[in-house]
Amino acid sequence: MPEIKKLTLENCTRLLKHCGLISADQLSDVLARGKAQETRLYAQHLAGGSRRLRAVVENISPVEVIASFNLELRGLPGRFLTEDVITEAIAAAVGMEYLKIDPLKLNLDVVTAHIPRPFSLKNLIVAVAEKGGILTVAVADPFNTAIINELAIARKLEIKRVLSSKKDILKILREFYGFRASVMAAEQESSTGADLGNLEQYFKLRGNQDIESNDTHVISAVDFLLHYAFEQHSSDIHIEPKREKTLIRFRIDGVMHNIHVIPKLLHAPIVSRIKMLSRMDLAEKRRPQDGRIKTNFNNKDIELRVSTVPVAFGEKVVIRIFDPDILLQDLDSMGFYPRELSLYNSFIRRPNGIILITGPTGSGKTTTLYSSLRSLASPEVNIVTVEDPIEMVMEEFNQIGVQQAIGVGFDSILRNILRQDPDIIMIGEIRDRETAESAVQAALTGHLALSTLHTNDSASAIVRMLDLGIPPFLISATLIGVIAQRLVRKICPQCKIVYELNADELAYLQLDKKSHISWEGQGCKECRGTGYKGRSGIFEVLEMSERIKSVITASVELSDLTDLARKEGMESLRQVATRKMLEGVTTYEEIISMTG
Ligand SMILES: [Zn+2]
Repeated sequence: MPEIKKLTLENCTRLLKHCGLISADQLSDVLARGKAQETRLYAQHLAGGSRRLRAVVENISPVEVIASFNLELRGLPGRFLTEDVITEAIAAAVGMEYLKIDPLKLNLDVVTAHIPRPFSLKNLIVAVAEKGGILTVAVADPFNTAIINELAIARKLEIKRVLSSKKDILKILREFYGFRASVMAAEQESSTGADLGNLEQYFKLRGNQDIESNDTHVISAVDFLLHYAFEQHSSDIHIEPKREKTLIRFRIDGVMHNIHVIPKLLHAPIVSRIKMLSRMDLAEKRRPQDGRIKTNFNNKDIELRVSTVPVAFGEKVVIRIFDPDILLQDLDSMGFYPRELSLYNSFIRRPNGIILITGPTGSGKTTTLYSSLRSLASPEVNIVTVEDPIEMVMEEFNQIGVQQAIGVGFDSILRNILRQDPDIIMIGEIRDRETAESAVQAALTGHLALSTLHTNDSASAIVRMLDLGIPPFLISATLIGVIAQRLVRKICPQCKIVYELNADELAYLQLDKKSHISWEGQGCKECRGTGYKGRSGIFEVLEMSERIKSVITASVELSDLTDLARKEGMESLRQVATRKMLEGVTTYEEIISMTG
């Protein structure tokens, strides 16, 4: 292995070549174009980014330059030479431990207590752990040892260095210090070092000096919190008041993580700030409220739905995050198999009729609805949605929110919008006979109507329509098809290993014992040890063929409908999921949790 004494473009590329991560051609290409690339990155950084961070960011490291070429790893299609991969190779070469920083596992106090932020920024170091008098510090440059000695003397601590990518370190410095600094500044402004753990003191304090929600520090604390949640791709933020503190948690890929513990003193001002942003009544603290915030992150609009509920120790806030990357996808990237996709595409291109999407809460129905409407949207088409509540505000659609409290329900809105000449109508959910009848009415008068139902599978949707009182001949005349769907977690590609199904598991899936291979994720840094990354849709598509129409009567049996649909080629949710398992997309475990 070539010895390295300094991080230069040449040293790093030679090392990567030596490790077999890049080819000789790529090596010479990177060396030839490296300087120009560095200049380009420099210009990019100058254009964006905060002024305070500029000094650090201006020093483009050779690792950043190489990573910016986005080279595919040799023999590993789909995996790229990222800052992380390069940093890991350098760590091995210089005999240091490599650390992929997981912000969710960091202790806020350790990160911010030992090293002042300007010092961290200047030297690109961040404290990541402290145990038994040893402070573990992540550094981006393995050769900048003078600074570590300086720190050891100043803090009177033994210091252990680990190597992390500059990108990870900067992320921590931005997010953690930013939130912490805002919280601490807000706290200081309101009190003079009082013991916040003490409840009596807290009440006394609040009496004379309440922190305002428009305090700049509170504003930035909330901004940092939202930004951090978006960056972590969380779906929900929970702000939970406890007796003596407030807990902030994020839900990521369906799992809750504790993120911050903040002083109770700041609970009310932070909640007020969020209520203000979501246009709620600030004075109302005893009744639940709902609101929404539209904001921007990485040049895309993000919709937040906020709700507050009074609990024992104050108002609990839950913020649901609607990321357009998740809610609006290309139909062909959602997990449909080709046959199902072309069937579904043929459904939504019909001029009139009803399409039903069915599945439990959290099965991705809204994503399918929004993505379908989006694929149909054009200036010539008038799309109207009736939702309870509006999930995400989209300019292309005319969206109407149901207001049950004042008697404006699905059916009354539907009756009115039919007069407004829509082409396509999306009805959030068919819950009652009136709404079902309105959908039928819309279809009969030449509209395409899309809606959802809560049933387990596609054939059950037909039975549900009958139960709601729609006559069989009207179902046959209007229903185009039904989609039943679920979401399964995808196996993390970085830690995927073969999983051998045992005899019981094979029997459960009705597979014979012949050479069926399945996989699972072992858990790695990329997937936070869960073994899963991202989710995929499982779709069962039932087409209302002439034969199915002909068997629909008021007394039709669910099993007869299902059998007939299967005979005509419909694959059940279980079959589709099993297929995805055998293809290595998901696991046996996920099929079990999906099918209950
Ligand atoms: Zn993994």
